[in-house]
Amino acid sequence: MDRAKASPAGSLSLQEIRDHYDQFAWAYRRYWGDHIHHGLFVSGEEDPQQAQEKMLRHCATRAGLQPAMRVLDVGCGHGGTASFLAREFSCRVLGLTISQTQLEVARKLCGSLDGAASFELADAESYAFPAATFDVIWNMESSDHFFDKAAYFRKAATALKPGGKLMVAAWTGSMQDQLIADIARVFLFPQLWTTDEHVQQIESAGLQVVSSERLSSEVARTWDLAAKQIGDSRWMLTFLPAQFREFVDGIELMREGYRNGKLTYSIIVATKR
Ligand code: SAH
Repeated sequence: MDRAKASPAGSLSLQEIRDHYDQFAWAYRRYWGDHIHHGLFVSGEEDPQQAQEKMLRHCATRAGLQPAMRVLDVGCGHGGTASFLAREFSCRVLGLTISQTQLEVARKLCGSLDGAASFELADAESYAFPAATFDVIWNMESSDHFFDKAAYFRKAATALKPGGKLMVAAWTGSMQDQLIADIARVFLFPQLWTTDEHVQQIESAGLQVVSSERLSSEVARTWDLAAKQIGDSRWMLTFLPAQFREFVDGIELMREGYRNGKLTYSIIVATKR
């Protein structure tokens, strides 16, 4: 199950990504809550959780989520999305994660949903996707961690029902740029892609892209708030492993990337004809 590959961001293994999420699940929960993804700031007055829920609602609307749909949440984190989509959109969600700790947190979080959300410990890149099973496959900030995104999109395409949708929300930028390569290294992404690279590869997987958005100022505040929150409890960092401190330093790279336009946030929806 464990791949270790040289990638444009340096050498990285699946085990390192898994260890990161196992080891820092508590820190993510403390600073990010149930969701580990960008917020969508519409008025600019939202708190982080409100902005994260706006992001979920926005992506769900883009993906055309309807009651009783079957959703595969690939890279489900703490189950915050599964819980939200089951409660707010009456969907049935199966979440996949590589982290045992996240699996336990997610199962607990969704324990009262009468089976509307279930979870499996699985590596999406070697997962045996059942054919033509899901109405929506949801990748929120998880495909960035994959070693072969093109192969993954081909497998996702087979697992969608005809008319089903793939929703990909991803950090986007060119690996030719040193700042983007640094962001990829710090945040454990084998490589990041531009929006156009995503669109091209998703279409090569046999899906038709129906919408593609590139956001920046609407999401960048996520990192301003994270920097402020972490700054307020900076003393705690001295007790944390160097790896987490490097991750925290990465927040400044993110802010710089959004400021200078090299980093963007893309939401892409594609359908299976
Ligand atoms: N989508 C969640 C979590 C995003 S963090 C949210 O929006 O809150 C990235 C997630 O991707 C983590 O849950 C991590 O365990 C998962 N992940 C990374 N590589 C994976 C892989 N190969 N297979 C399955 N999940 C993976």
